[in-house]
Amino acid sequence: MNKLSKIGVLTSGGDAPGMNAAVRAVVRKCVYENIKVTGIIKGYQGLVNGDFLPLNAGSVSGILKDGGTMLKSARCPEFRTPEGRATAYENFKKQKLDGLVVIGGDGTFTGANIFGREYNIPIIGVPGTIDNDLFGTDLTIGYDTALNTVVDAVDKIRDTATAHSRLFFIEVMGRDAGFIALNAGVASGAEVVLLPEKKTSYDDLKRFLEKQYSYSKDSSIVLVAEGKKMGNTFEIAQRVNEEHPEYDARVTILGHLQRGGSPTVADRVLASELGVAAVEALIDDQKSIMVGMVDGEIVHVPFNQALKNKKGINERLFNLINVLSGGKK
Ligand code: ADP
Repeated sequence: MNKLSKIGVLTSGGDAPGMNAAVRAVVRKCVYENIKVTGIIKGYQGLVNGDFLPLNAGSVSGILKDGGTMLKSARCPEFRTPEGRATAYENFKKQKLDGLVVIGGDGTFTGANIFGREYNIPIIGVPGTIDNDLFGTDLTIGYDTALNTVVDAVDKIRDTATAHSRLFFIEVMGRDAGFIALNAGVASGAEVVLLPEKKTSYDDLKRFLEKQYSYSKDSSIVLVAEGKKMGNTFEIAQRVNEEHPEYDARVTILGHLQRGGSPTVADRVLASELGVAAVEALIDDQKSIMVGMVDGEIVHVPFNQALKNKKGINERLFNLINVLSGGKK
């Protein structure tokens, strides 16, 4: 017999495809274990406002395949204040909750870490972010779907880049992490990637493009992470155009389309496994941890560790971009 009688589940921060699959897994596992479960609407905002939605097995029917989140998401400034969290705790008690599952990114886990320790509440985090920037898990929910969306978009832009002999700078999400740019770059054959983790100077970029154009190329794709060190993407493209008008450089910002869409198989499976693992962790009396997946095994990572450490990019992949772009050493 487990001690849990009722838990809450919320999705918070940037939405990611597969959050619904994770909510479904949490709810169905609770039903399976005879634990009551309530949804908290709009992340921590719902906890502060007392906005709850009791859930049963049927409430999550059909959502596995949907992007977005049925529980909605929000950024909640009040939760950053002790007063806001005190109100959240009042509502937590009123609902007679024994624990929480929070699905989100590093901001969500930072809030969970503070709140859980402040009021001694068991909270388990499920990594849901398209950026894949959480330490302690190989992958986060939504990343694979976002990668596929980006590659699909880059393939289409490649068609017009080739037809018109243009150079495209395509900006993808990733303020602090270049996982999307790097992996989508390899998968779409981008000639250059600009990442937050790597210092590429403007001169490096120019030299590289000149080398590319000096032999066969008359079109190229540069995949740019939002947080790259080189500055504004439009300014980079403008400078390239001034120095090399023949490249005919254009910019496309993929923006929020990267967050939407039906989750891929990989994201559905990951979300299903991690949602169940989160409830299991609560049953096992765990608190202030993220459930993750490393080498195909479920892992428990203390929030402190997940938040303090930075996941590095794969250097082998980074070097591959250069090798595969077609030029000589
Ligand atoms: P993500 O989880 O995608 O990184 P955010 O960074 O927006 O998204 O964080 C989601 C929410 O987590 C914030 O709106 C806020 O309510 C809560 N949060 C983030 N940082 C803190 C903090 N330092 N203290 C308390 N709550 C926080």
